[in-house]
Amino acid sequence: MGIATINPATGQLEQSFNALTAEQVARKIDLSAAAFDQYQRIPLHQRRVWMNQAAAILEDDGRSTAMAQLMTREMGKPIQEAIAEVKKCAWVCHYYADHAAEFLQDQPVQSDGSRAWISFQPLGTILAVMPWNFPFWQVFRFAAPALMAGNVALLKHASNVPQCALQIEAIFKEAGFPSGVFQTLLIQSDRVEQILKHPQVQGVALTGSEPAGASVAALAGSQIKPSVLELGGSDPFIVMPSANLEAAVKTAVKARILNSGQSCIAAKRFILAEPIAEAFLDSFVAAFQDLKVGDPQDPQTQVGPLATADILDTLEDQVARAQQQGAKALVGGIRDPHQSGNFYPPTILVDLPVESDVAQEEFFGPVALVFRVSDIESAIQLANWTEFGLGASAWTQDAAERDRFVRELVAGSVFINGMVKSDPRLPFGGIKKSGYGRELSQRGIYEFVNVKTVWIQ
Ligand code: NDP
Repeated sequence: MGIATINPATGQLEQSFNALTAEQVARKIDLSAAAFDQYQRIPLHQRRVWMNQAAAILEDDGRSTAMAQLMTREMGKPIQEAIAEVKKCAWVCHYYADHAAEFLQDQPVQSDGSRAWISFQPLGTILAVMPWNFPFWQVFRFAAPALMAGNVALLKHASNVPQCALQIEAIFKEAGFPSGVFQTLLIQSDRVEQILKHPQVQGVALTGSEPAGASVAALAGSQIKPSVLELGGSDPFIVMPSANLEAAVKTAVKARILNSGQSCIAAKRFILAEPIAEAFLDSFVAAFQDLKVGDPQDPQTQVGPLATADILDTLEDQVARAQQQGAKALVGGIRDPHQSGNFYPPTILVDLPVESDVAQEEFFGPVALVFRVSDIESAIQLANWTEFGLGASAWTQDAAERDRFVRELVAGSVFINGMVKSDPRLPFGGIKKSGYGRELSQRGIYEFVNVKTVWIQ
């Protein structure tokens, strides 16, 4: 399909871009190497000034609105969410600007030497392979710690968000980061191998699907280079009888339809204890019926189009297969064939047999799968019955139940009485097929540094 902006609300091709040639990519890697040579020596307080300046650009009201509109035009996110995303990017820039010095300072260790300590040094050029679903956030979440640690970055963004990719490069440039410290490469995925094999490139972070992750991780492994993978999820959202039902339903709706359902940490499987299942479903269905679906540039819109026609086809096929296997739609479930754009109606499916293949898949759109369970034992068992392990949300007022969820849910994060979300202060990442490594927080900055042991007698 090439590298292009295709407005998901209309299906119109707005702009297409030529991919860089192998020679152009090689020149950019050379520039990256030269930039790293200088940049790693630049004191942290200077990097901090530039990172805060990047945040200031993102915080400028007029400009952040234009950036949000661009995101919405390229991948269809409701505009209010796009505006919030730009603000969150400013937050992560400030967070690492403020904390990098503390995270990266030498750590003394008692040993048999006269002195020993751990020091943290940058690795070099890090490649970021990023998806379209949070086209700004996913990149800033990677770039803020990587650049503060003294690394330089190459971005291979998803092919449907090229203008966002170029805009992000422009932000870092304007903020003052020297030329070559952050570069966008307009390329398709077949060029990733060339980049990862280059000796200057020292690691890769990928957010995206399982096949993309497996392929990039295999390449990185063949080159003995570290990788961080943030892949899909099929997060459970468990509601127990003691839960505050009103809050649980309200959050459940938000947790499922955020980004029109295209989030790795969206709640995807709703696991309801029998005693509250009927009441929960009544409110959940009513709330889904009330959702405003439409033009993503309209500030009232809650659910926009899906990002690409392929994502729409995949979701439609999943719902059809779920229905063939016994699922019933309480709301939605049929796409309007006359509507232009990649719209899919908010859908709630019940009665899908847990053992069906499709129950194991990630639904990347506004489709909720609902299951009923008799007790906490079966809730935990069903929640963990997935190849994924990204996040989990559980709702209960019972301390013993809460402790069991915290201990027994097999996921990178557990949120009790709240929705799974990312926060610069907290580690973010998954286990099992959801990937490995952690982004954000103090942990995140150590993924791409040399944790160097220094021992002196
Ligand atoms: P992909 O995983 O294909 O795309 C993510 C990024 O990886 C893009 O930059 C893409 O480039 C690149 N990429 C894809 N394949 C390779 C490869 N073999 N080698 C190197 N880079 C590669 O996601 P899709 O857009 O196809 O979405 C498909 C599904 O992935 C979704 O339905 C969802 O389930 C999951 N997904 C999960 C995300 C998450 O947040 N965890 C984000 C996005 C998708 P290009 O665009 O040029 O193909």
